[in-house]
Amino acid sequence: MQIVHSDDFVMDTAVEQRVFGENAAAACAAVARLLRRLEDRMSFFKPGSDVRALNEAAGLGIPIRVGAETVFVLLAAKELAEKTCGAFDVTAAPLSECWRGAARRGDGIPPTEEELANAVSLIGNDVLSLFPENGAAQLTKKGAAVDLGGIAKGYAADRAIELYKTMGVEAALINLGGNVKTIGKKPDGQPWVVGLQDPDKERGVFLGSLQVAAASVATSGGYERFSVIGTEKYHHIIDPANGSPAESGLLSATVIAGSSMQADGLSTAAFVLGLEQAAGLLECYPDVEAILIDEERRVWITPGARESWNPAPGYESLSVSVLENNK
Ligand code: ADP
Ligand code: MG
Repeated sequence: MQIVHSDDFVMDTAVEQRVFGENAAAACAAVARLLRRLEDRMSFFKPGSDVRALNEAAGLGIPIRVGAETVFVLLAAKELAEKTCGAFDVTAAPLSECWRGAARRGDGIPPTEEELANAVSLIGNDVLSLFPENGAAQLTKKGAAVDLGGIAKGYAADRAIELYKTMGVEAALINLGGNVKTIGKKPDGQPWVVGLQDPDKERGVFLGSLQVAAASVATSGGYERFSVIGTEKYHHIIDPANGSPAESGLLSATVIAGSSMQADGLSTAAFVLGLEQAAGLLECYPDVEAILIDEERRVWITPGARESWNPAPGYESLSVSVLENNK
């Protein structure tokens, strides 16, 4: 049996693959190619991507042909926007641009109220029209834009696992920048263990771990990516309700689901919504579990995930509470 461990950088993030089985090396290489192809289609920045083409045509009044995979992700994104009352919204891109733009200007001044209000007027499910039967999409307002950064890595993890399966891989873990998906068990028969980042420590310091069988685990937090404006750090997850980086009282939100795309979108939404509203949202998803870490570093776990959680050595005294989601 082959055991392959590969580290890569794709879709603007670190990608780790651990693949076991007869065909592991070939499967690992095939997944690396798949991820590059998905990046070429869904990147916000890459010239020639579906997303760039769609954004460049915003307000021109013509639908743009995009690949079937992009249509699939856009449809899922619109559905998530509805379910999360707009906390997850891929059309929030003009707001992200406002914050990145202010950082680029370098004068230390955050976006003005007017700039943010203008960007807010360009977002929402209404500005994005999809024509799945024609493989097309359209942004109806000039200046509108989509960014699939909060969902595409999850989709890619789902596709990677599908490809492993079709190539005969028995067990694998893929981690796309905090979107982890697994199949099978480790060769020693043990379940996979997914570490939960300590939001206040450098990358790779875990405050606990989850034992998972075949599942998707996605974490969103304000600690990983940010812009610096003046002396302040502004993280990259925007609350579309007010146009600013989300301040919901959470340091991170982790979601466990069958689909990695769903886990990715819901973890971003939960981070935006905060403890109480995230618990309310989870009521609509009976098969989804979550672990939320609040600003006091208290850990909130849905009942279904309680058993799979273990604090890391040195973190035994963390306060752990049940996140009631009325299931
Ligand atoms: P990461 O991409 O760091 O793993 P997330 O999955 O939480 O983290 O996605 C954050 C990315 O999603 C941002 O970089 C931005 O591209 C986009 N984004 C920011 N705010 C939102 C939002 N409210 N809804 C949907 N996407 C968002
Ligand atoms: Mg996400």
